[in-house]
Amino acid sequence: MIVDGHEDLAWNMLTFGRDYSRSVAQTRALEAGSETVKHNGQTLLGWPDWIEGQVGLAFAVLFAAPERWQAGPWDHVTYKDGAEAHRHYWGQLDLYQRLADDHQDKFLPIASQADLAGHLQSWDGPAEGRRLGWVLLMEGADGLQAPETLENWHAGGLRIIGPAWAGTRYAGSCYEPGPFTADGIELLDVMAELGMMLDLSHLSDEACHQALDRYPGTLLASHANVRRLVANSKYPERHLSDEVIQGVVERDGVIGVVLANKFLKDGWLPGDRRELVTIDHVVAHIDAICQLAGDAQHVALGSDFDGGFGLDQVPVGLDSIADLAKIGQALQARGYQESDMLGVLGENWIRMLERALPPN
Ligand SMILES: [Zn+2]
Repeated sequence: MIVDGHEDLAWNMLTFGRDYSRSVAQTRALEAGSETVKHNGQTLLGWPDWIEGQVGLAFAVLFAAPERWQAGPWDHVTYKDGAEAHRHYWGQLDLYQRLADDHQDKFLPIASQADLAGHLQSWDGPAEGRRLGWVLLMEGADGLQAPETLENWHAGGLRIIGPAWAGTRYAGSCYEPGPFTADGIELLDVMAELGMMLDLSHLSDEACHQALDRYPGTLLASHANVRRLVANSKYPERHLSDEVIQGVVERDGVIGVVLANKFLKDGWLPGDRRELVTIDHVVAHIDAICQLAGDAQHVALGSDFDGGFGLDQVPVGLDSIADLAKIGQALQARGYQESDMLGVLGENWIRMLERALPPN
């Protein structure tokens, strides 16, 4: 089974009305020439395509941006204060539950080791019974009104938190650098008590180092690349320094490589020719992490598909989520063992979840 570490499903459903029970081809046909394509490109995600591509599990994201980062009037999932952030994020938790309830044959929320074991077993069975499972991930913690409310979110199935996208009242980000605040430190303590996973993606360097120093629980980067390979990036802290990568590896964490051209090839910008970026660029980031780690057990995929970009901004050869297996083929062509290839495509995330999810 292939696992994808980052998909902004709720944000797309709310911002563009996307229906992910449809296929990629159906959504593209429906959206042809629309504003959605102008703002977020042609979709890369759809239920039959997940299944066809053997993508059985994704980290499904709760996301809203602070109003100061609003990209235009169409970008309405934004907040001006903590109360509004809370409404958006809690609403998205609810939205995922409704999506799963409405399509019980297609989607399955996963919040425990028992859920995961059952889901893995169902994928070993006949193809008709296969569903997309998801683990909920909060990107930007302003949706939490206070650290002590985290228990409610945990009860609602939330298992992973990335404290910042832009800066939040909990932590500085790659776009708005700064440390964890006093509230942020308290949040880490409550997360650790509940056994939640901490996502370093988008955190500032300073906050990453604080997290590595003091978070005792499971660490990951759901969607981040190797800074050294995109050194001229507009926001260098969006990607991980070798030091932080090594820190994650030492803690047995996993890093999901983002499949956005601007994050894969140094100097590539939206509007540039898609053909300039290939699956070899993806392999370069994966390989750089493996070289630092000394093994292939700490890197995986975090596509971020539909997270602000579409078909024209992903490597040539990857035309939808159904094509992720091609990354595995490229790794094998590069000399990776089959077991390492399977680790990168999914088993590394699964091993982390088997360790970090609560038993029941
Ligand atoms: Zn992100």
